[in-house]
Amino acid sequence: MSRVYNFSAGPAVLPEEVLKEAAEEMMDYKGSGMSVMEMSHRSKVYDTIIKEAEADLRDLMNIPDNYKVLFLQGGASQQFAMIPMNLMKNKKAAYIVTGQWAKKAYKEAQIYGDAVAVASSEDKTFSYIPDCSDLDIPEDADYVYICENNTIYGTKYKTLPNTKGHTLVADVSSCFLSEPVDVTKYGIIYGGVQKNIGPAGVVIVIIREDLITEDTLPGTPTMLKYKTHADAASLYNTPPAYGIYICGKVFKWLKKMGGLSVMKERNEEKAKILYDFLDESKLFQGTVVKEDRSLMNVPFVTGSDELDAKFVAEAKAAGFENLKGHRSVGGMRASIYNAMPKEGVEKLVAFMREFEQNNTMK
Ligand SMILES: *Cc1c(COP(=O)(O)O)cnc(C)c1O
Repeated sequence: MSRVYNFSAGPAVLPEEVLKEAAEEMMDYKGSGMSVMEMSHRSKVYDTIIKEAEADLRDLMNIPDNYKVLFLQGGASQQFAMIPMNLMKNKKAAYIVTGQWAKKAYKEAQIYGDAVAVASSEDKTFSYIPDCSDLDIPEDADYVYICENNTIYGTKYKTLPNTKGHTLVADVSSCFLSEPVDVTKYGIIYGGVQKNIGPAGVVIVIIREDLITEDTLPGTPTMLKYKTHADAASLYNTPPAYGIYICGKVFKWLKKMGGLSVMKERNEEKAKILYDFLDESKLFQGTVVKEDRSLMNVPFVTGSDELDAKFVAEAKAAGFENLKGHRSVGGMRASIYNAMPKEGVEKLVAFMREFEQNNTMK
């Protein structure tokens, strides 16, 4: 068996310990005589799996009792519709557009009401986070929406926007559990788990209870009402059962590692290795403003499309996979999520250093 260093933005690297455990339990989960994949989601065994997953997540994020944790499907993209359908009581919402995912959410919300872009960084290809300290947020806006870590461009909010008392809704798909968060500052925190937590197919929604109501937009399907899933503790219909089981294992792994403050330190340390090199390199450079750099997604370029392609190909041959930047921006991107070991980043930087020596004029 040989494993590569996988820098994919998502689906992405998972902790090896978790994969090994899942492999060991594949044929016979804890004496049940079956795989978790084959199990009724209404069984006692599975009930323990989903309840423990929720309890461990609550523990890790210090989620207050007045928030529900929902394990849903449809990916982060389905939330782009579900959020306005459930929250747009006044049919108005403020969106901060800091990348393609935020823009998609903003566009989707326009189907359901008056979505207003109150700030954007599109003027400089989303290479920064706009100043959000004093935005012109409509009084009657039902919520303020952000994408907290911009997976494609590699920026992250270092301070949350001043919502002027409005409910904050955040897509944290690519920074989920990468550092501690104060859940009480948000109305909804949600994300697809395939970036930093588990396998594709699960989206986790952490939602303040007062936002869960019957009062959704007319025509909202039963499956797209938060209330449906909250009332049934994520078991209204068959949940993405195996995916939730893997997420649960990752939560336990994170707790064992020391929790989110330890993950933050580790992530800062890893990101620093790469950013420090980019700052001194004569060939490679980062593409976003320093203050807004993401700890999770690190885009960089050489300035030459040809050299970029050569780098990606040579890196792949050397065991560093998925370093090609998003198709919309080109260049390279190294996603260095929780499960990427420090050693992976160190080896990547050593490889980049060597590539630089071989490809710059003497
Ligand atoms: C990947 C990603 C999405 C889309 O997730 P899907 O689960 O594929 O719908 C949305 N937002 C962010 C920030 C992402 O990184």
